[in-house]
Amino acid sequence: MDPWTHPHPPRDGEGGLRRLAVLGAGPVGLDAALAARASGFRLRVYEAAPVPAGHVRAWGHVRLFTPWEMNVSHRMRQGLQEAGKPLRVDEKAQPTGHELVDRVMDPLWRLSGLRESLHTRTEVVAVGRQGTLKHEEIGGGRRLHRPFRILLQGGDGREWVEYADVVLDCTGTWGNPNTLGDGGIPAPGERQLDDRIQRMIPELPRERNVWGGKTILLAGAGHSAQTAARALSELAESVPDTRVLWLLRSEDLSLGAVENDPLPGRRELTRRASALVQGASPAIQALPGRVVDALCPVGKEVEVRLARRDGARETIRVDRILSLTGGVGDHQLYRQLQVHECYATSGPMTLAAALLGGGEADCLNQESHGAEALSNPEPSFYLLGDKSYGRNNTFLLRTGWEQVDEIFGAMD
Ligand SMILES: Cc1cc2nc3c(=O)[nH]c(=O)nc-3n(C[C@H](O)[C@H](O)[C@H](O)COP(=O)(O)OP(=O)(O)OC[C@H]3O[C@@H](n4cnc5c(N)ncnc54)[C@H](O)[C@@H]3O)c2cc1C
Repeated sequence: MDPWTHPHPPRDGEGGLRRLAVLGAGPVGLDAALAARASGFRLRVYEAAPVPAGHVRAWGHVRLFTPWEMNVSHRMRQGLQEAGKPLRVDEKAQPTGHELVDRVMDPLWRLSGLRESLHTRTEVVAVGRQGTLKHEEIGGGRRLHRPFRILLQGGDGREWVEYADVVLDCTGTWGNPNTLGDGGIPAPGERQLDDRIQRMIPELPRERNVWGGKTILLAGAGHSAQTAARALSELAESVPDTRVLWLLRSEDLSLGAVENDPLPGRRELTRRASALVQGASPAIQALPGRVVDALCPVGKEVEVRLARRDGARETIRVDRILSLTGGVGDHQLYRQLQVHECYATSGPMTLAAALLGGGEADCLNQESHGAEALSNPEPSFYLLGDKSYGRNNTFLLRTGWEQVDEIFGAMD
């Protein structure tokens, strides 16, 4: 009997093992899978992309600002030894996303016990509890007796259900980018223009023909927008007429720079980006204190109406739009579960409160908040990784490794 397709498989022999489902084969999903393997769970990992690490591969051309020593967990290092591919790198150097996948993630997914558990082209559509709804059996342990019911969709569109006793949602935020319009909601016209708005960092110089010689609206102020601004300014040096109108919601042009930043990669990025908003490149014009009010296609161009806080409006015309305004995890996935979300950040409440208590602390100074902060009223359901931080964009991989330690420590 396949224990994943029966809500209550027989408890004899291997059937007695608890079924642990990891949603998403990103770095944190991988670390959780390694921990589950070591803890003797029956394991299944669902990944929507055709190969693991779908999100990291999509931004694989970007260099991380944290060094190798922070980007690989102790479980991953052990796994690489076991795979006969110990990590030999300059620990202080920063890998690109592709290097992280090639050197660490791909070899680990080939390990026995992980390889068989991984189901790619398998999107998790929704997770509920068998025979019960969100508002039922509140706050008691009774929900534990009802397995999770997971609706899956294969690459061919086929749908089916599997069951699990523990679910770790590691689906990240990258796949759910925020929209461009003021107030975090789409601007009028934005949804119709969706296929003309790019929401990921361009791969330059490979996409030179796409961006070179164009007038580009770049929206966002975080590290992704800063990375894109730096790359586009370099492109403009070799392709004249490349022009970037860099839209920043805030009047503050400090771009979140950390004083005496100990991470050289991040320090250099914010230094260069700050210079760019202050006019260091003739190709880049900063438009601070403005938001997108409306979008309208005009032939191959887009007319963008901008608004200032005092209500004043202005209109610009651009060839391309690059919206790098962050993202938040897919909360619809667990809408039938008793997840207590923070009304401000959408992260799980206890963790969100701990993070908000830390104020605007730099991500490097964040401390782990313990297994208690990761638990929520729904027993045996945890949000881990980037998604656990909700709208807070200070998540670091290193925190993900700590979360996995804490959750598995608490489940032993
Ligand atoms: C450009 C960029 C640079 C970054 N640089 C750094 C850095 O330098 N240092 C650092 O510590 N952090 C960095 N981060 C932040 C963070 O560490 C990464 O986003 C990291 O990839 C988060 O890992 P994760 O496993 O939580 O989620 P993800 O890597 O987002 O993985 C989620 C996985 O779930 C899959 N998935 C999504 N939805 C579903 C579904 N419904 N069903 C099945 N599978 C699904 C995805 O395909 C993906 O493989 C960066 C982020 C970005 C975007």
